[in-house]
Amino acid sequence: MARRLPIFDNHMHLRAEFKGVEAAKAFEKVGGTAIMLTHTPYDDVPISHGSDYERAYRKTLQMAEAVRAATSLQVFVALGPYPVECMHLKEVVGLEGAVEAMRQGIDLAARYVALGKAVALGEVGRPHFPVGPDLVHACNDVIEYTMATAKRLGCAVILHTEDPTPEIFGEFAAMAEKVGLDKNRVVKHHSTPLTRPEENHGLVPSILAKEELVVEALKGGSRFMLETDYIDDPDRPGAVLGPATVPRKTRAWLERGVLTEEHAWTIHRETPERTYRIQIE
Ligand SMILES: [Zn+2]
Repeated sequence: MARRLPIFDNHMHLRAEFKGVEAAKAFEKVGGTAIMLTHTPYDDVPISHGSDYERAYRKTLQMAEAVRAATSLQVFVALGPYPVECMHLKEVVGLEGAVEAMRQGIDLAARYVALGKAVALGEVGRPHFPVGPDLVHACNDVIEYTMATAKRLGCAVILHTEDPTPEIFGEFAAMAEKVGLDKNRVVKHHSTPLTRPEENHGLVPSILAKEELVVEALKGGSRFMLETDYIDDPDRPGAVLGPATVPRKTRAWLERGVLTEEHAWTIHRETPERTYRIQIE
């Protein structure tokens, strides 16, 4: 008997104040089976000191528990200081203080990885819009620290950065090599569809579930993951894809031959399993 194809969304944010569990149910209802619930800043938990991350992470972990209780989904968690937070932190505690706070944010996330409550550090990186060289330097410092921590823990890193070119992929690959982190464990979230190894330097692209991106990505092979980057923010409706997008599109692409069965298994099971050392059911 043919086994059920798992459907994994590699990047979702859920907020208890907004759709939260309901969004996860919408994903499950159309065939979704697993998500990477990624930490996000919360308005009611402003970060002005590294120790503030503790309370913020607990919100994400509580959301993971709430989704597990209300659905049959596999919920994996990524925790880390959201890169754009460095700008606010810089205003409050200065650049050095910001780096210190974000490193502390990584240390706190690492504790949850060690406890098995999170499988990746992320999303971490640098703002996706241009910022000054001092801030870029500070963010790179935090990225290297994150990669070194991931190497020590044996976990993955999920990067949030500007849209990557082959050169930018090369930059992150060099950072991973410097600390001895396997590049198969470094995910570029919201990636450009660069799936050829000579373009992504061995990092793992995670691509928005949009047909034009997937068609382009498949030209280089099926070693990538799919995501919605669902943001669950009432102030930004329609800013990103809805929570049902990955299952719906995957099914439509299979029906129309955009994706083969083999591609789909690689995208939804093999690549997440290898990247995060998880078992996709
Ligand atoms: Zn995100």
